[in-house]
Amino acid sequence: MAKSDRIKKIAVIGSGFAGLSAASYLAKGGCSVEVFEKNTEIGGRARQLRTSQGYLFDMGPSWYWMPDVFEKFFSDFGYKPADFYELRLLDPEYVIIFGKDDVLEVPASMNDLFELFENIEPGSADALKCFLKEATYKYRIGINNLVYKPGRSLREFADAELLKGVFRLQVFTSLSTHVRKYFKDPKLQALMEFPALFLGAMPEDTPALYSLMNYASLKLGTWYPMGGFSKVVEAMKQVAERQGVKFYTEEPVTGFRMTGGEITHVNTDYRAKEFDGVIGAADYHHIEQHLLEPRFRKYSTRYWSSRVLAPSALIFYMGVKKKITKLKHHNLFFDEDLKAHSREIYKQPQWPSKPLFYVCCTSKTDDTVAPPGHENIFILMPLAVDLDDAEEVRERYFQLIMNRLEDYCCEDISNYIDYKKSYCVSDFKNDYNSFGGNAYGLANTLRQTAILKPSITNKKVKNLFYAGHLTVPGPGVPPAIISGNVAANQLLNYLETI
Ligand SMILES: Cc1cc2nc3c(=O)[nH]c(=O)nc-3n(C[C@H](O)[C@H](O)[C@H](O)COP(=O)(O)OP(=O)(O)OC[C@H]3O[C@@H](n4cnc5c(N)ncnc54)[C@H](O)[C@@H]3O)c2cc1C
Repeated sequence: MAKSDRIKKIAVIGSGFAGLSAASYLAKGGCSVEVFEKNTEIGGRARQLRTSQGYLFDMGPSWYWMPDVFEKFFSDFGYKPADFYELRLLDPEYVIIFGKDDVLEVPASMNDLFELFENIEPGSADALKCFLKEATYKYRIGINNLVYKPGRSLREFADAELLKGVFRLQVFTSLSTHVRKYFKDPKLQALMEFPALFLGAMPEDTPALYSLMNYASLKLGTWYPMGGFSKVVEAMKQVAERQGVKFYTEEPVTGFRMTGGEITHVNTDYRAKEFDGVIGAADYHHIEQHLLEPRFRKYSTRYWSSRVLAPSALIFYMGVKKKITKLKHHNLFFDEDLKAHSREIYKQPQWPSKPLFYVCCTSKTDDTVAPPGHENIFILMPLAVDLDDAEEVRERYFQLIMNRLEDYCCEDISNYIDYKKSYCVSDFKNDYNSFGGNAYGLANTLRQTAILKPSITNKKVKNLFYAGHLTVPGPGVPPAIISGNVAANQLLNYLETI
């Protein structure tokens, strides 16, 4: 029971998925909530870019995985995703391009998937069934017993089901080793390891626990919200507003006023406003190292420089004045060596010599994102953080990517481009105060999982709780939504004590 019945005032810093989720849960918990966002638009890395030529680009996420997490968020407020946006199941879910005439289409139907595996490697359909049985178990335990926990103490994980399944969860085996036990064919290995790349680490450094992502992608399906990912942002904003949340855009938080180890006021360029509690849902490093005075910081600069960040990215948003026959919605260009590119991201950070890249063409599914007869193309090349991203380097990689894209598609694309914008390391830093220019937060390596992630709390600042992709449970949209929920619960518990 709260000591005071007064309505508690909460500030949320950042309006990405973590901030939107935290704000909604706090308002539902009876608080008066205000969200401060640095940028003009709500949504953080999932903002949308609308151009005068009629293109509508999702600036960040494009893979809608783990639909159950979105459903849980909306149902907690009495809604379903379908009340706000239409989801389409993609089929094929995605294609992996190993060479010009060497393409793997990953079908949405499980039977077709088993058939595909069996054709590539006899016996692998049964291997896939066994693999997915384990992945299903890990996903169930992961969702029910792991990810909705604040990761403050090992005791949280001492429940009977977790302890019983501790070996089956394979926290200490690498995903790479795990995949190789089941599949010998390099293409099947690549297909099974690819979801780990979402977790921002090499499959060798990712615990096999994360084969739960194979369950998420292959069994739960790859979906697309019609109108783009920002439909999800708009929906969550509406949910928050219906709970009474207020949003202030173009109003970055610049610091705090503190009394006795608590934040009393949140400062922006326009006001210093009194609050009872704060959710830090902008990049953790920015809040901790730039908004808090040194004596209130939990972590040192040494700590931060020893973290393994998920990659940054070189992105191109491109409008094309014609249809490109060979492209599907999600196209993964794995026609170069994945290990060599990964090494140049994590081990010897540098611009890659032979990069892999990803092309998303939402206009294959959605007529509203490009003018009739045009394509909406998003190209992403994963990249080490903190690299110098001068315009001429970006352009060099654009030419390299276009050569491979045109060669694969067997048609001229360059001469049909009527919109092009690049986005890279320095844009992530400038737009989101992103640590090192990371795109997806912190890598999910074993040493950066659960209680080993930057903590959701800071004992030196009792009423500040962190959310977002640098803390638990990790990178990606569903984890960001979960993180906002977990941080909101922690703050609500704290408010009960004041
Ligand atoms: C290119 C790209 C592709 C991706 N693809 C996928 C995908 O397909 N599927 C998937 O699930 N995930 C994907 N991700 C990851 C996913 O988008 C992120 O992990 C998630 O959106 C992070 O949400 P967040 O709320 O933690 O952070 P953010 O979205 O970054 O939100 C933080 C907000 O804080 C604001 N802010 C910063 N400083 C301040 C300040 N001082 N005051 C006020 N506001 C401030 C920022 O402007 C930002 O709006 C992708 C990310 C990128 C960049």
